[in-house]
Amino acid sequence: MIRYFSTRDEKAEKGVSSAAAIKRGIAPDGGLYSPDVIPEVTPDFIDSLKDLEYSARAAKILSLFLSDDYSGPEIEAFCGAAYSPEAFPDGAAPLKDIGDGKFVLELWHGPSCAFKDMALQLMPRLLSAAITKTGEKRDALILVATSGDTGKAALEGYRDIDRIKIEVFYPAEGVSMIQKLQMMTQAGSNVDVCGIRGNFDDAQNGVKSIFTDGDIAAELDRRGLFLSSANSINWGRLLPQVVYYFSAYADLLKQGAVSPGERIDFVVPTGNFGNIFSGYLAYRMGLPVGRLVCASNRNRVLTDFFSTGVYDKNRSFYTTSSPSMDILISSNLERLLAYSAGPVRTAGYMSELKKTGRYSVGESILGDIRDIFAGYCADDEETSAAIGRYWKERHYLADTHTAVALSCADRYISETGQERPCVVLSTASPFKFASSVYSSVTSFEAEPGYRALEMLSEATGIPVPARLSGIDRRAVRFPDVCDADGMRRRMLTFAG
Ligand SMILES: *Cc1c(COP(=O)(O)O)cnc(C)c1O
Repeated sequence: MIRYFSTRDEKAEKGVSSAAAIKRGIAPDGGLYSPDVIPEVTPDFIDSLKDLEYSARAAKILSLFLSDDYSGPEIEAFCGAAYSPEAFPDGAAPLKDIGDGKFVLELWHGPSCAFKDMALQLMPRLLSAAITKTGEKRDALILVATSGDTGKAALEGYRDIDRIKIEVFYPAEGVSMIQKLQMMTQAGSNVDVCGIRGNFDDAQNGVKSIFTDGDIAAELDRRGLFLSSANSINWGRLLPQVVYYFSAYADLLKQGAVSPGERIDFVVPTGNFGNIFSGYLAYRMGLPVGRLVCASNRNRVLTDFFSTGVYDKNRSFYTTSSPSMDILISSNLERLLAYSAGPVRTAGYMSELKKTGRYSVGESILGDIRDIFAGYCADDEETSAAIGRYWKERHYLADTHTAVALSCADRYISETGQERPCVVLSTASPFKFASSVYSSVTSFEAEPGYRALEMLSEATGIPVPARLSGIDRRAVRFPDVCDADGMRRRMLTFAG
């Protein structure tokens, strides 16, 4: 039996099942649910993934964590539906060989064209079943405040899922044109979308205040609903991401690019530390990983943490060309701390962070962390240069987030002389950030609006992805914008 404990549970006594952890999202003490044992796999297990499709690889790996609550056929059915050819027409996580021992793992072939689909296509199915399994009588209302990518991926994942409704709030002037169109044209019978007059913080604070309001909870309870969240602190969002680390290794084995047991490095464009933490779980399960390289943009709070052991969010916040990584509090780092330093110390760090904005882990814990992690960062200029370089030299077109990782990979390899195969995770389609990518490739400015996508396509000969093609001409279902204090009324109307 695997039990899920809060990262701050000092007595380690309040463990819950996987279904309960997925339903609750965050632990009552504010910590993050994490498994008490990390299942280990054998080299034969890894080898057996080679000849399977992605959905079957996913089912085998997820079963190791979920089989106390979910049956084998159930997990297979969920994975089959989540990673179907309809959802991922070009394959769920194709691995591209770009030469010199470097590979790109493309995680953006899902409905929103960003990597959050990898988890959000699956998690709603796990949650929907968890509601039934835990004997919950009410249905879930998922409330999301988004600065861009999460909103669309969550809407696509939760639409038309049984016993769940989803409502997304976004800053009307604070997301990209493509992201806004993706949300305003959303399909599904259980979805609602509304813009907010204000910035992302206003949207997020509005959502937080709804979550902590006892009167609203009681009112929703009368209507047979409870609130739940879709963000990356939920165990149900981390777990599906473990799969593609194994999948990349299985593909390398299949291509003969590695021999069984040979170690490889991963370079991960990082914001909230969810993606790379899933890589850490894969490593702890027995995947032969040499290094997990954490790639940050100019908001380099994690780079500094890995070099000094001091996490300090008291610093300027920068808006960069890789907005999904513009973060000063990387929530999932708490899970790494819990495994490295234990819940007692982790609870202490988190209360320090809340009080003073910083904490320090000390030499010995930092040493353990650095045995597997390394931190690198790239500013906008280096990122843009990497996009141009990889396009000109290797004909690989990367988005801005992926390019941060490519730039970091190059520095990591030149500084360490490392010769292991290196897998760079690619987290968004270049067309999602078309105007930055266009100017990096051509040195000219793109025209505003949808035209930028067409210009990028003309300049590179790569077609606009079907999911984004003509998005400016689709019917708008959700044109509304409200003030931040109108969010409650909107939510209660939607709740019905
Ligand atoms: C969310 C996101 C990231 C950051 O992932 P984390 O799990 O938060 O570290 C990187 N790139 C893109 C495109 C994203 O949407």
